[in-house]
Amino acid sequence: ESKKRKKPDWLRVKLPVGKEYAKVRKLVDEHKLHTICESGNCPNMGECWGAGTATFMILGNVCTRSCSFCAVATGRPPEYDTDEPRRVAEAIKLMGVKHAVLTSVNRDELKDRGAEIWYQTVIETKKLSPETTIETLIPDVKSNWDALYRMIDGGQEVVSHNMETVESLYRRVRPQAKYWRSLEQIKLTKEYGKRTKTGIMLGLGETKEQVYKAMDDLVEHGCDILTLGQYLQPTKMHIEVAEFIHPDLFDHYREEGLKRGLKYVESGPLVRSSYHAERHVNV
Ligand code: SF4
Ligand code: SF4
Repeated sequence: ESKKRKKPDWLRVKLPVGKEYAKVRKLVDEHKLHTICESGNCPNMGECWGAGTATFMILGNVCTRSCSFCAVATGRPPEYDTDEPRRVAEAIKLMGVKHAVLTSVNRDELKDRGAEIWYQTVIETKKLSPETTIETLIPDVKSNWDALYRMIDGGQEVVSHNMETVESLYRRVRPQAKYWRSLEQIKLTKEYGKRTKTGIMLGLGETKEQVYKAMDDLVEHGCDILTLGQYLQPTKMHIEVAEFIHPDLFDHYREEGLKRGLKYVESGPLVRSSYHAERHVNV
């Protein structure tokens, strides 16, 4: 094995164990829910689930897209389940989640991009758990702005949309997405009055200058919060890690992002877009 592909010490994490973890695991299974924590093999499952929180994935677990870093299956998704908003809301209530993160696959085949299910899930969750704050990590609506406005109209506190990488790597990393279209979506979300957030994975071969440029573009498009984390290859079939970024460089990027005008930057090797999400509600 080549040196660059061996995981450095700072990426070693504890296995998910413990009572809280087992409780969440059971609820997720019983309610036939999907979590991005599992499908993405997230290294923070022990910590997040152990704290009684999880990110729920709605609109099924088959995606119309094929991003090269993502472990979610690609294909034609089956008919969606109109009972899902209620089930998700119930699980959130049963789990006593204080801050819920909701996300979904891309449903490009649907005229409304899944906006109605998004809206209903937020509404149902707020109805059953009025104290619970919500972040919705929404997909690329492909310039269907009516769909965007429906998706973000349910009273959620944070609306995130992940850029994932720098502009020059889009073709390889997010082939069905467009850098400037995603920025436009963030801008319109901000203009609609929402708190905006995005995530970028590092270690895919981007240069420092390109990261700075992405930060400037984000500030210009009204993005409030940025998460930066190390990309990890979910299986050998996925795009390779180009580089393991040192924790010191993550610290540097945090400072740089704040200097360039972002309101909050979460930056570290194990940071995922939903990591410490509860801290982003008051930004
Ligand atoms: Fe789940 Fe996000 Fe925590 Fe990972 S960081 S375990 S995806 S909530
Ligand atoms: Fe994965 Fe999202 Fe890309 Fe679908 S759109 S392949 S769920 S990252």
